[in-house]
Amino acid sequence: MTAPIRLLIHGASGRMGQALLRLCNESGNCQVVAAVTRKSPPQRVVDGVPFFAASELSGVPAFDVAIDFSLPEGFDPVLALCVARRAALVSGTTGLSEAQRGELASAASVIPVLWASNFSLGVAVLNELVERAAVALKGWDVDVVEAHHAQKKDAPSGTALTLGEAAAAAGAHVSYASLRAGDIIGEHTVQFSGPGERIELVHRAGSRDIFARGALHAASRIAGKPPAAYRVRDLLD
Ligand code: NAD
Repeated sequence: MTAPIRLLIHGASGRMGQALLRLCNESGNCQVVAAVTRKSPPQRVVDGVPFFAASELSGVPAFDVAIDFSLPEGFDPVLALCVARRAALVSGTTGLSEAQRGELASAASVIPVLWASNFSLGVAVLNELVERAAVALKGWDVDVVEAHHAQKKDAPSGTALTLGEAAAAAGAHVSYASLRAGDIIGEHTVQFSGPGERIELVHRAGSRDIFARGALHAASRIAGKPPAAYRVRDLLD
């Protein structure tokens, strides 16, 4: 049996961090060696997993892949740590600045990285459907409408922007609308409006587990790969 992939979970006390910690045992050959929270953790070890505060990041034990679902202000330190340790980074943190996207692209020459606005299989397929529809429906209006829980900080969502980019690549002018309400996990509608007809492509997330499982699968596939910027679809099988 090969040695387990050593994971660092960054943003461990958040909604996605909690889902990752709960599901990591499902994904087979993985072991969480560090869970990093923004503030000092109330307990140092939970279910055998060592917890660290963000201020202690430089002292975490050796790891193979960091999975980051935090906030833009937490992104730079975890990227720097991965580069310093020559470890892979899988990140789903949205709302990154242009400068942060640039740093991520530079890091890809040194370590394997995968940033994705959405780790669900359904949204990966939705992106492909949008690309095809935008090519076939030249001149139609394209609107991306998204709804998320009231605590979500960025708008439009990272997924909405990725879907919009897929349509814009075919020349479409894309408009966005965002709704923040209740505990909605994530809903995205891409509407194509032409003369006298409309198409709506819709994805609804029923649980954060779909994103967590996708990120854990990506982490298990990216470990040991050469430095590059990978996409979810590169690591699907
Ligand atoms: P959340 O607010 O519940 O959790 C974010 C966590 O990050 C918090 O626990 C916070 O304490 C922590 N954090 C903030 N700054 C930090 C720092 N400097 N160092 C370490 N940790 C820090 O949010 P969430 O719903 O778990 O989402 C987290 C991120 O993931 C958001 O950007 C969200 O948009 C994104 N997201 C992406 C996907 C995807 O598939 N790509 C899916 C869901 C959410």
